[in-house]
This record gives sequence, C-alpha cells and structure tokens, in this order.
Amino acid sequence: MKVAIVEAPADANSLTADPLDHLADTLFHEMGSPGVYGRTALYEDVVERIAAVISRNREPDTEVMRFPPVMNRAQLEKSGYLKSFPNLLGCVCGLHGLESEIDAAVRRFDSGGDWTASLSPADLVLSPAACYPVYPIAASRGPVPPGGWRFDVAADCFRREPSRHLDRLQSFRMREFVCIGSADLVSGFRERWIMRAQKIARDLGLTFRIDHANDPFFGRVGQMMAVSQKQLSLKFELLVPLRSEERPTACMSFNYHRDHFGTTWGIVDAASAPAHTACVAFGMDRLAVAMFHTHGKDVDLWPIAVRDLLGFPEADRRPTSTIEELRCAKEVGS
Ligand code: AMP
Ligand code: ZN
Repeated sequence: MKVAIVEAPADANSLTADPLDHLADTLFHEMGSPGVYGRTALYEDVVERIAAVISRNREPDTEVMRFPPVMNRAQLEKSGYLKSFPNLLGCVCGLHGLESEIDAAVRRFDSGGDWTASLSPADLVLSPAACYPVYPIAASRGPVPPGGWRFDVAADCFRREPSRHLDRLQSFRMREFVCIGSADLVSGFRERWIMRAQKIARDLGLTFRIDHANDPFFGRVGQMMAVSQKQLSLKFELLVPLRSEERPTACMSFNYHRDHFGTTWGIVDAASAPAHTACVAFGMDRLAVAMFHTHGKDVDLWPIAVRDLLGFPEADRRPTSTIEELRCAKEVGS
C-alpha cells in the first residue's frame, strides 16, 4: 500500500532561516520529505514524559482507546471532512488490479515510467485527528447515560500541509480527551480542561496565552465557516510564541462541536435527542518542540521543577556545578 498525496506547494521549502531550525539535529532525522521526521531518543523520551503528565491529569471514569494511523474512509467522509479540509487529507491507495496489471505497473517503473497511474484508492484514509473514530464506536453502544461518556484517545495523525518549520509537521502525534453528553455537560468539560491545560502548560514552564481560534476551513464557503466558528466560540487554542509573538503556535485546542457528531452518527440520549460533543487536543510533537525551544537542548539543565514534573531522575541534574567545572577545580588544586 502507498499513500496518495498531492504536490507540495512551491514555497514549502523556502530556505529562509527559522527560529526553530537550531533544534533540528538534536530532535529529528531527515526522511526526505518536509514535515516527516525520524525522532531522536532524547526527543521521544520527552514526548513520553509529557504524555505521562497528561495521563496523570485524566479525569476519573475516562475510557482509554488508542487508534492506528489509518481509519475507515467512509467514516471520515460521513464526518464531513471533505466539506471542511479536503486539501489536508491523505488517502491510502494501492495496486489493486489483477496480477498482470500489477506486473505491468512494476515494469513501467523499471523502465523509468509512471507506475502510480495504476494506483486506486483503498477503503482507508490517514487519520487527520485522533477523535474521529471514537464517535461511531460510541454510537454503537446505545443511548448516552445521563453522566455522559469520556474518552482518552491518541493516534499518529496526517495532514497534507508540508512545511520546513519544525512545528508544522505532516505526520504528528495527537492526544485527545473527548466528552459526549448534554450541552451543559460537554461545555463544563471544556471549561475544566481550558483551566487544567493552562496549569499543565505553566508547570511545564511554557509561555502561552489562550485565544479564540478557527480551523483552516477550505475555500470560500470555508471562510464563512471559520467566521461563524469564531463568533460562536467553538474553538480555543493554547498558543505558545515559538517563532514570533505575532504568530504563535497552537499546542493544544479546545473544541465544542455542538451536536454535529451526535447528529451525524445518531449518538442520542435516553429521550432520543442528539448528544453534544467536545474534545481537547494536545499536539504532542508541538509540545515537545516547545519544551526544547523554551528550556534548551540539554534536558539536564532544564529547571528543576520542570524536570521533577516530567519525572527525570534526580541523579542526572546538572544545574549546580557542572562536571567540567568540577574537573577544572580538581586540576587547579592538583
Ligand atoms: P486541531 O484539530 O487543528 O485543533 O489540532 C489539534 C492539535 O494538533 C493542535 O493544537 C496542534 O498542537 C496539533 N497539530 C495540528 N496540526 C499540526 C501540524 N501540522 N503539525 C504538528 N502539530 C499539529
Ligand atoms: Zn477532536
């Protein structure tokens, strides 16, 4: 199976320096495409420690589910994704023909031709957000109980937005808490998380602000959707000034979908009224990049309170005298 992707915009690889560039060698391995990186052990360790902090903040009675990087194409179509972000979608496709047709495609490749013309779409897309698969699963469980449902989900996500900026990836990790229930219940859930997420960001030592936001809806109709999303306060983001104060990076989002998924999937309460839903999303890669940008490349020198929160072993701390300083002192004394 291969993934069908459209051409990258021409400016995706513009070579102007970026404030995050200095982190590239410490955090990532180039893999030949912008926004798709192998990750170093150091970086991955920090991602896992941030994930553990988020897990410790999980509300009680939250069901944990982990999803693969692909999901059913029909389910994403039904969710309305093609109306909102068709330009960002990555679709799985493969050589599905007869053996002779597949042979012909490979022979075309061997002789320098275009084998991809023989690809056809599979029933899978790359998941563009971690929460999409949870709504049909919830719908299959019957009416939502009065106390609602809460889920903790995560997935590797794909969005076709190639960029050489280290905080805009095509393939990135998303963790989400999802709430399904009455309008009041899910609004309360989102309010609680807006507060709790700020405490997490503060404890991680990040500079941030919370602001109204809108999704990058596609096209002219999309512009209207974006305006109304903002007017109705359906989306907030936790923004960290990574490359500039004026254009900060969204590291978390707090989304209220009203009854969109409830109506789409027939998720209803005992009185058959469509359920409301909300999700809080953590961009795990953006949070990790923000940590290195804020505290530096050497995690041994990160603030003690931040190291403690992340569960780094005390023995590795080096903020007082460094090993080099101790060695110099010894040499001077000898
Ligand atoms: P959204 O559904 O757009 O609110 O995305 C949820 C979170 O995923 C955002 O707050 C970001 O932290 C993260 N995210 C979204 N797009 C990207 C991207 N292209 N690269 C890295 N992280 C992303
Ligand atoms: Zn979501």
